[in-house]
Amino acid sequence: MKQRILSGAIAALATTLGSTAVFAHDESVTVWRLLVADQEASVVNVIDAVDKEVIDSFELSGPAALHRSSSGETVFAVQGATGVVSAINTGIAFHDHGDHADIDVSSPALLDVEFTGDRPAHFVEQQGYIAQWFDGEDTARFFTENAVLDGQSEVRTANIEAAHHGVAVPYQHHAVVSIPNAEDASQRPIGARVVDFEGNRIGEDVACPGLHGSAGSGSLYALACSTGLLIISTNNGTPEIEHLPYPESLPEGSASTLLGGKGLQYFVGNYGADRIVIVDPSQAEEGFQLVQLPTRRVHFTVDPIRARFAYVFTEDGQLHQVDVLSGELTQSLRLTEPYSMDGHWNDPRPRIAVAGDNIVVTDPATETLHFVNAERFEKVDEMALEGKPFNIVAVGGSGMSHGH
Ligand code: ZN
Ligand code: ZN
Repeated sequence: MKQRILSGAIAALATTLGSTAVFAHDESVTVWRLLVADQEASVVNVIDAVDKEVIDSFELSGPAALHRSSSGETVFAVQGATGVVSAINTGIAFHDHGDHADIDVSSPALLDVEFTGDRPAHFVEQQGYIAQWFDGEDTARFFTENAVLDGQSEVRTANIEAAHHGVAVPYQHHAVVSIPNAEDASQRPIGARVVDFEGNRIGEDVACPGLHGSAGSGSLYALACSTGLLIISTNNGTPEIEHLPYPESLPEGSASTLLGGKGLQYFVGNYGADRIVIVDPSQAEEGFQLVQLPTRRVHFTVDPIRARFAYVFTEDGQLHQVDVLSGELTQSLRLTEPYSMDGHWNDPRPRIAVAGDNIVVTDPATETLHFVNAERFEKVDEMALEGKPFNIVAVGGSGMSHGH
């Protein structure tokens, strides 16, 4: 009560003085949005993860894989079947003010910019630089997030010898690109090299048999090979590649999907159907930890906020918390009916995203999103979402709003 009288007095004083600055109050704002693609329908739903309401739905040309940029301002929807990559402005932007970040919140929007081509597949973004790979084309395309947000669709390109299912990693003046199998480009790539955008190769080609799967963690980027990981670092902005072999102690196998830790520098990959491998790139032999799962793995993700945890969903309907430092399954929670990994790889099955305090799991069979509190590892809420909710990404966070 005392506070109210006091601020009323200040307001009256300010009115008297004709000042408006006094009224521009700063407040901390927290916003999280989920973008959820349907497995069957050509639609992406944007959901307010706090109110659990659909804000908007965007009609695409086909079912989409979703990739968020590191800034979270843009989500790219790769529609492999129809050859289109669409861009969605998430409506959440942060501006670094040094001691704090400002948050700008607006309506999400499907941008006019789109990229069309033969079989768009792997998408990689680093610090606003983007590489979009097309499996049916013999050049890789590069652009920036800022250009897309400005409505520009011009690209830079790099030659990749022959069309193949590979990947490119973008840097400011360079890219790392996969090298196709010269005998049969439909086979997995055989290595990686550094190129620039003027057609030059930089340094030696590096062998990476069976290359598939890539991820960034802090200053490092990793590519998965049948023999180990390629670890890419930069020296004065130029990428350098080093091969980190799987240790002898690991059983037969390799990773073909990678994720990178946020807050802690590590990589996590699949390693057989019912195991994951956690890799600390600063160590050799001891840097690899194998984690056995109770059943086969459906999906996994890292927690960008609680950095020591990653989550794995298994086909018995359980979500598991993995401590990436100890390599142990620390908690398990049954969320859904079983989802067998038999059948097509792209059948509708759960996917995981972390949105602030919540781990959100899509459940296409029951048309539901499950919300699990990440601290308590307990289901706290759910939301109905019509269709087959499948691929999911989260954007958001907290920032200051200066009331203008
Ligand atoms: Zn500010
Ligand atoms: Zn692939």
